[in-house]
Amino acid sequence: MNKTNYDLLFKDTVKGLTQKKTLLLHSCCAPCSTAVLERVVPHFDVTVFYYNPNITESEEYYVRLNEQKKFLKNAYGEQVKLIEGRYFSREFFIMVEGLEKAPEGGERCTLCFKDRLNETAKVAKENGFDYFCTTLTVSPHKNSDLINSIGSEVGQKYGVNWLYSDFKKGEGYKCSIELSKEHELYRQNYCGCLFSKYVNLKVEE
Ligand code: SF4
Repeated sequence: MNKTNYDLLFKDTVKGLTQKKTLLLHSCCAPCSTAVLERVVPHFDVTVFYYNPNITESEEYYVRLNEQKKFLKNAYGEQVKLIEGRYFSREFFIMVEGLEKAPEGGERCTLCFKDRLNETAKVAKENGFDYFCTTLTVSPHKNSDLINSIGSEVGQKYGVNWLYSDFKKGEGYKCSIELSKEHELYRQNYCGCLFSKYVNLKVEE
């Protein structure tokens, strides 16, 4: 079965734009946003949406949020704005109850993606954005088929265009590492929830 080339869909979409549209870009962290912003800013009027209740430790949540703010200010000045979403990690714990031991990339992560993309689509609709999207596909650990399928589904639910993409393509991930070094950004070594951190710590032992 032929796999959908989401990177090609992204290129087709931006090629078809006759003027800059507004884009609400969900961002999981500053490092992942670096390479994605390079690709979307030339085509869209971008606002970053930091909505990550999956970062279950508040100290870590605010470290990543501050890195995001620092990067946007240094790299884009006033050009790219930021909206901070609600932060109730308790809601995340309730949502994934029973899936604490699920492997990374499993059912817990599907719920986590759904929650973050649903909220992004909702906020995009409420604020009149033309498109919404996420930085998540820049990671080689994240399933782009799944993310695009969820994005498309919640886009239809709220009536906002999902921007198909696969930002890991074209060395997107490598580019994010290089840009993170260049901007001296903190790069965490685990995904976000306590469960992913615990697995990481086990692996390092
Ligand atoms: S491992 Fe990452 S994507 Fe999966 S549930 Fe935890 S924070 Fe969400």
